[in-house]
Amino acid sequence: MKAHDGMYIDGEWRPAAGPDTIAVVNPADEQVIAHVPAGTSEDVDAAVRAARAAFPAWAATPPAERAARIGALRDVLVARKDEIAETVTAELGSPLKFSHAVHVGAPIAVAGSYADLAASYAFEEKVGNSTVHLEPVGVVGAITPWNYPLHQIVAKVAPALAAGCTVVLKPAEDTPLVAQLFAEAVHEAGVPAGVFNLVTGLGPVAGQALAGHEGVDLVSFTGSTAVGRQIGATAGAAVKRVALELGGKSANVILPSADLAKAVNVGVANVMSNSGQTCSAWTRMLVHDSQYDEAVSLAAEAAAKYGERIGPVVNAKQQERVRGYIEKGVTEGARLVAGGPEAPREQGYFVSPTVFADVRPEMTIAQEEIFGPVLSIMRYEDEADALRIANGTVYGLAGAVWAGDETEAVAFARRLDTGQVDINGGRFNPRAPFGGYKQSGVGRELGSHGLSEYLQTKSLQF
Ligand code: NAP
Ligand code: MG
Repeated sequence: MKAHDGMYIDGEWRPAAGPDTIAVVNPADEQVIAHVPAGTSEDVDAAVRAARAAFPAWAATPPAERAARIGALRDVLVARKDEIAETVTAELGSPLKFSHAVHVGAPIAVAGSYADLAASYAFEEKVGNSTVHLEPVGVVGAITPWNYPLHQIVAKVAPALAAGCTVVLKPAEDTPLVAQLFAEAVHEAGVPAGVFNLVTGLGPVAGQALAGHEGVDLVSFTGSTAVGRQIGATAGAAVKRVALELGGKSANVILPSADLAKAVNVGVANVMSNSGQTCSAWTRMLVHDSQYDEAVSLAAEAAAKYGERIGPVVNAKQQERVRGYIEKGVTEGARLVAGGPEAPREQGYFVSPTVFADVRPEMTIAQEEIFGPVLSIMRYEDEADALRIANGTVYGLAGAVWAGDETEAVAFARRLDTGQVDINGGRFNPRAPFGGYKQSGVGRELGSHGLSEYLQTKSLQF
């Protein structure tokens, strides 16, 4: 795999300040495929200075021109789509077909949506005797995880650039290669020097330096709740803006009138895709008493089909963590109906697609984010019971409701404490706001709501 041995700062690849490197490992075969530099606070400082210097001119660039650059960026991503898919497959381990469909498809759709939005958004509005200007917040520090490595970069960088902000990105240490490829694409798209900067490195070093840097006006973070809480505290103390996309423990609520087989099969696919490493995955399936046994056998059958097709999880630590949760589920008395804690292959960080039945709401596997291919099937007595179980975690990121008719499903969805709900298998919409209720986060990404996170208002009275 091709890797740069420097940082992308102020429009060029520059040597890193320090000598340390990060080994990039292919989780499917545990081989080291590349090394990238491990950035320090010095690299972060240089990148933030470049972003600050580029800010006034980029903020003053007409939206149509910013839109043209984002459109060009989208076109480069399209032209390099095979390379992107191969890179994500190599460093994340996802099957190539999935990389093409999702890890390439979603970022292209999101970049395209922001090319359109930058051109059409009303950056000025009239309110009575005032003219309200929507101005860019300034320099954005973006910190991203590895699970949808390019999508999460584009979901921050594209709206930031559309708004007129400049950016310093610290991508996940496990997936820096697609971030370097993205920096090349930004360069090829003719985005001016300093508008986008990349510092690869470790979270507690480069990430922390970026989150705490006084030259950063807004920190946008996606990842674990533990780190998000810390970043939120740092930002609060400095009175700077922060957006946090954190974990989830979403419910897939199957009402008795639903098409049970479809709801179960789509639900299992939702949890197993990307090896369960999706913050919005419906990891709790809620089924009525009368259909419970049938749902459990359908889910066990569906999960078994994933055995050969599923990719590894991202690294050895995540593999151990997920297996630890599976063991905990067994210890707490849940019933294994598919998979289990044993590693299914000798090489690679694989976890068997696992399904637990008889999961009770208070169990650890029903409360904590596992981030692996593990589904918990829970039983409810009536709608009130289903609602109480569905809303009974600290999270509120996503969910699903299935019912015989949409009106019934929508009525239930409106009572869920969560940021998005798929009705009878509704499709992902890259223009709909994405983000969490409760401890799933603060702020929204995607579409016009995602764009407004990077803007602040200035009111002129006449
Ligand atoms: P994480 O540590 O929160 O990583 C997210 C990003 O934050 C990475 O770029 C990481 O750098 C960086 N980071 C880590 N510590 C930091 C700090 N002190 N200051 C600033 N930045 C910091 O998540 P993880 O360790 O990769 O995964 C652990 C768990 O988090 C998963 O099992 C899952 O439950 C959850 N998670 C959720 C999402 C989501 O989409 N909501 C995504 C990934 C993980 P490094 O790459 O160097 O750690
Ligand atoms: Mg980490």
